[in-house]
Amino acid sequence: MTITSLSRRLEKVEAKRPPGVSFFLIWGRTLEEAEGEIALRERAGTLRKGSDAVALVWPDPEPMPASRSIRFGLGFGQEPKISDRELALLGAAFRAEAIARERAAAVEAGEDVSALDDTDFHIRSIRRESNDLERDLRFFCREENPEPEIHRPTGNGHGPMKHCVCPSCQSGDTAPRTGFERHAARQSAWLARYLPGEGLFV
Ligand SMILES: [Zn+2]
Repeated sequence: MTITSLSRRLEKVEAKRPPGVSFFLIWGRTLEEAEGEIALRERAGTLRKGSDAVALVWPDPEPMPASRSIRFGLGFGQEPKISDRELALLGAAFRAEAIARERAAAVEAGEDVSALDDTDFHIRSIRRESNDLERDLRFFCREENPEPEIHRPTGNGHGPMKHCVCPSCQSGDTAPRTGFERHAARQSAWLARYLPGEGLFV
């Protein structure tokens, strides 16, 4: 996933706010640590009380990125100063929040949600927030059903080609002859389950 596509998604989540949205991003080894830093900064006056701050857990062994203000939606060529890994974690956090919000709204409305899962609720949030529903549903479908990396036979031009014998090739998932078919079947099943009758061309 590219930074652009993810930040576009984040912008959609923030669509109700004016362009050039910014918020203070705070990392912590635990959520308590990150949220504690919000309080500390508010007391020290380096963060305005009630301003938009996002506290997230940094799960990687690599050094934790500095807490700082991030701006999105500044326009083409002005990507936010944030790493792919930070953006992925931020995207996952926004997504989890959107799913929780949709689930709570359905329960509140008295809907029977016993047969619904996170993917159903994520699709609902896409429907609610999208400006281009078909494009966004297609994007989500691809994200959930990534194309397999086909392992092609290798050779040096002399003698027979060597076929890969790794477990996923043996089960057919990444083998040239069956990999794409399996992927197509999985994707059709996913579409039938989550987007029936949508006529989504992927
Ligand atoms: Zn293989």
